[in-house]
Amino acid sequence: MFTKILGYDVFNKTKNDFIKYIENFDKINIVSGNPEVLYNGINDPVLFECFTQNNSVIIPDGVGTVLASKVIKKPVAEKIAGIDVMKSIIEKCENENKTVYFLGAKQNVLENCIKNLKSTYKNLKIAGSHNGYFNLDSCEDIINDINKSRPYAIFVAMGSPKQDIFISRNLEKLPCSIFMGVGGSFDVFSGNVKRAPKWMIGFGLEWLYRVIKEPWRIRRLSSIPKFLIKVIEYNRVN
Ligand code: UDP
Repeated sequence: MFTKILGYDVFNKTKNDFIKYIENFDKINIVSGNPEVLYNGINDPVLFECFTQNNSVIIPDGVGTVLASKVIKKPVAEKIAGIDVMKSIIEKCENENKTVYFLGAKQNVLENCIKNLKSTYKNLKIAGSHNGYFNLDSCEDIINDINKSRPYAIFVAMGSPKQDIFISRNLEKLPCSIFMGVGGSFDVFSGNVKRAPKWMIGFGLEWLYRVIKEPWRIRRLSSIPKFLIKVIEYNRVN
């Protein structure tokens, strides 16, 4: 069920299998394992611990991660985009009357994201929300709010590593069953940022679309070759 990439266990079945698999957990941290995030993790013990602890499951989010699994000849079944998993969890919550909490992004993005999600998922129960601009070292008011509202799932959209640090510090403290860092997904749901057209996603070119739309991302792409080189080196040694 997992492909070992650089010491990480990466889920290697389909997205539908993953949605069934998460039922086995009382508490789970879903990590969208794109090359940038996984590369940063091997250089940062706190992040590495967060991605590899018992409750964490990494999904292959990104063509670079899929490619890495092919390079080591243990290919994952498909790329699993974090935003698609987030949608499936929201659908599940709507159908099963479970609540969700949205933490992250700028206030107006957060509000538009929630407004749009409410109009798509009419019966979705939202336990609460807070924007992502706060100090991780002094956020007791937010922790109290989440504790009081007892959401089943919490989506944390503050980019990596801030969202990962928040989750690893609070996973045991908070009563949520599903924790998921979702990067820029609130921006997509708010309508602020568009996802690539389906054909580009199909060709594994979502990264190219994002770079065209947000050229500052080009610097972040350098982690893809660095990640792949590490994967090849690691595989040769282990
Ligand atoms: N963000 C936040 N708090 C911060 C920094 C960033 O809530 O202190 C939000 C930002 O507004 C945006 C998201 O985090 O909505 C950044 O996502 P990014 O595009 O970096 O994530 P990716 O999709 O690349 O993982």
